[in-house]
Amino acid sequence: MAVYTKEKQVHTLQELLKSIPKVDTLLASAELRVFEKSLLLPLITSHLDSLRWGLKNATLSPKAFSQAINELIPTLQAKAKLAQMPTLERVINATGVVLHTNLGRSVFSKEIIDEITPFLCSYHTLEYDLEAGKRGERYRHCVQLLCQICGCEDALLVNNNAAAVFLILHTFAKHKEVIISRGELVEIGGGFRIPEIMENASCILHEVGTTNKTYLQDYEKAINEQSALIMKAHRSNFYQSGFTHSCHIKELIALAQERGLIDYFDLGSGHMGAIPLKDEMSVQEICAYKPALLSFSGDKLLGGPQAGIICGKRELIATLKKNPLLRTFRVDKFSILSLKATLQAYKDKAYHKIPTLSMLLASPKDLEHQASMLKNRLSCISNKADIDIIELHSLAGGGAMPEDSFKSFGIEINPKSMLAKDLEDSLRTKGVVACIKAKSVLFDMRTLLKGQGEMLANILIEIFKHAR
Ligand SMILES: *Cc1c(COP(=O)(O)O)cnc(C)c1O
Repeated sequence: MAVYTKEKQVHTLQELLKSIPKVDTLLASAELRVFEKSLLLPLITSHLDSLRWGLKNATLSPKAFSQAINELIPTLQAKAKLAQMPTLERVINATGVVLHTNLGRSVFSKEIIDEITPFLCSYHTLEYDLEAGKRGERYRHCVQLLCQICGCEDALLVNNNAAAVFLILHTFAKHKEVIISRGELVEIGGGFRIPEIMENASCILHEVGTTNKTYLQDYEKAINEQSALIMKAHRSNFYQSGFTHSCHIKELIALAQERGLIDYFDLGSGHMGAIPLKDEMSVQEICAYKPALLSFSGDKLLGGPQAGIICGKRELIATLKKNPLLRTFRVDKFSILSLKATLQAYKDKAYHKIPTLSMLLASPKDLEHQASMLKNRLSCISNKADIDIIELHSLAGGGAMPEDSFKSFGIEINPKSMLAKDLEDSLRTKGVVACIKAKSVLFDMRTLLKGQGEMLANILIEIFKHAR
């Protein structure tokens, strides 16, 4: 009896598997024919594979399997439609988070792009010295500007600040100790954790102090013949308050110099002094203390391209350039040209060319005015939602200065006949990213770019047209 049952099951299984239509038949069906074969074929094979696997491993009942086979064509049609959707779309960022890593971090201005376009569309002296007729250095286009703006001795560029941290640790502290406060063993996001970076750079982590308090004598006591670097990492994405102590950069520089070590500051965002921030030292202020090395991102508060900017002592920069790994972190011409144009805008104090700065410098009064204009534009839907002007607090974002918020204004929409979540959903499918607060959706005016207020109004009117 048992054998019979088993045989019967095997039989059924084979029959079920046989009921799967041929791939060619599926490809030729009227519903699927319209899609490109190169798009469709992998979808069909992987879908059928997973059905077969489910049946054989009993995660799919014979009944569910048969049902899936009956629904094969509409399912594949939906999958193909989804796969055809563009992955890259422009969005309206109404979150008030200026440096939104998921939305591309710093935004370029057309002015900066226009300035560099002729170079990008032509051969240029990226690494060529016209006078000498031989190879030049790609970093020189930005180094002089960096030295002038920040007051550092020399500088170097890599692909991003994560690479800068790695390169510095690997160059100066391979198989040696790096002294760092326990309060700074941070995770920045995207898997970047200071202790893991150290491990990968073959450094020995020598943590000192406690989570909340680290004194200069903690660093002093930790110094031994294995020590190479005293490091300080910006906390970036969190804020410590209350019973805390950390050492001033000035003290750590003096200690490192006295004991023949290298001091290194991972500033994260790097604040170039163009916007008012409380309790945040600017790169210029830090450079005035003559640190050995510091590094920061190109596309956080600086508002330029993705890059890692290293500033510091000339002989240390020269040593970094000798590390063969530098080649694997090499910045490309787009980054160099756009960073140069961005730095030039800093030098000229032409901050309007840097959208990150324009947004952070926008006055609450102007933002309130924009909010009231948007509210007026939406008067035609005021019977379908409560619309109010509200005071908000925008963030710099990008793991930068979470304790510094920027007073802002926006509008709050509380729809009468749909949930806030449904409104937020519809907005997202139309390319608007906004935040939900209780029963309302919030729109911060600070991160709307030129012309986007009008676009946002049209999208909202369109959504509410279909609402009761
Ligand atoms: C953001 C950040 C990094 C990583 O910088 P990327 O340019 O994103 O690679 C490293 N350290 C700190 C402290 C940061 O805030």
